[in-house]
Amino acid sequence: MYKSIGNPVRPLRLFIGGVHGKECRTTKLLLERLVKTGRPMNGSAIVIPCLYMGKYVTTLSLNYLNTKACKRLVKIVEAFKPDMYVEVHCYKPSSYNSLISPSRIKVKGVPPLVELEGGVLVGSISPLLKAKLNLNLPVLIETPCGKRENFKTALRILYVFLMANSTTEALETLGFKHRLKDA
Ligand SMILES: [Zn+2]
Repeated sequence: MYKSIGNPVRPLRLFIGGVHGKECRTTKLLLERLVKTGRPMNGSAIVIPCLYMGKYVTTLSLNYLNTKACKRLVKIVEAFKPDMYVEVHCYKPSSYNSLISPSRIKVKGVPPLVELEGGVLVGSISPLLKAKLNLNLPVLIETPCGKRENFKTALRILYVFLMANSTTEALETLGFKHRLKDA
């Protein structure tokens, strides 16, 4: 399902949810709300609330590159060549500690996510996916699965990306003085 906000002019922002497993259950609700919050002053946005619903394959594994979801994602990115890329995920509360743990780099080979506010985490996307999609500064947002009480915070953060003209600008607005460390 595609939702386009404005004519496809630049900067073009791509918001994508439901990249694996049953995360659509959360990202669909969240991203459908985002579409209703407003439209960027400059450029446009493409919002995909649910890329794929099926088996869960972590985006950190090479196997992900062979999934239907990934093939679909590659086609979308090649078609739109987004200037900003925001991948929306949800996590189980039991994963919270490992997602923000400083040892994540040793355990998973990727830097920990940073908590922005109220359980909503931000970080860089899978290095494999980043290389495959050839993206500049792609961002990953994680909100607790099914927890609507966190939606308000998640929406506020996504809204910053919707209104910003670049990822760097959005991160600065959110209080990041430096670029998010690339994995
Ligand atoms: Zn995920």
